[in-house]
Amino acid sequence: MINIVLFGPPGAGKGTQAEKLKQHFDLIHLSTGDIFRANIKGQTELGNLAKSYIDKGQLVPDEVTIDLLKSEMDKYPDTKGFIFDGFPRTTAQAEALDKMLAEKGEKVDVMVALEVPEEELKKRLMARAEVSGRTDDADPEIIQNRINVYKKETAPVKDYYAGKGKYVGINGVGSIDEIFNKLVEEINKHI
Ligand code: ADP
Repeated sequence: MINIVLFGPPGAGKGTQAEKLKQHFDLIHLSTGDIFRANIKGQTELGNLAKSYIDKGQLVPDEVTIDLLKSEMDKYPDTKGFIFDGFPRTTAQAEALDKMLAEKGEKVDVMVALEVPEEELKKRLMARAEVSGRTDDADPEIIQNRINVYKKETAPVKDYYAGKGKYVGINGVGSIDEIFNKLVEEINKHI
């Protein structure tokens, strides 16, 4: 299997690149944010719970997110692999992912991180709000909160993979194709 973690702050372009990588490597794209939003739209119990955190720019609790990811992975027993987008976002989630994969005799091959300066992120998120209708993109205070949560809770996940020699940082400013080509090049070194 090929298992890629696509990492980076809100607005770094993970969703855009994940779609292209999925096609290129023939993988399943698992975005916890997309799954939460689908549940919010469908007004499920999980959706209602997730919404109460997402609307404040906070993380959905680990237990909920980890259980959700596990059941999503179990839907694709025959896949060639996964692109994890927006997961893991805490060290506890990273440890849980390793455990889930180890149970299948698998592992994370590489974490590729899109690096984008904070001012550029804020600009992109405000612009995205215009088209996405995402309430968490429209309010500067919520955006700032998401960036703060990223720095405090999510950035340490980078050290987790760096410690295993699996972290690669990539400049996330440039054209979509330029960034995609760099991602493919780095991923190919690890699979
Ligand atoms: P972005 O990367 O732009 O923040 P996402 O779609 O990845 O967008 O996530 C949107 C929101 O969903 C996050 O702000 C958070 O509240 C919630 N979320 C997504 N993934 C996770 C996760 N792995 N753990 C906890 N909360 C999550």
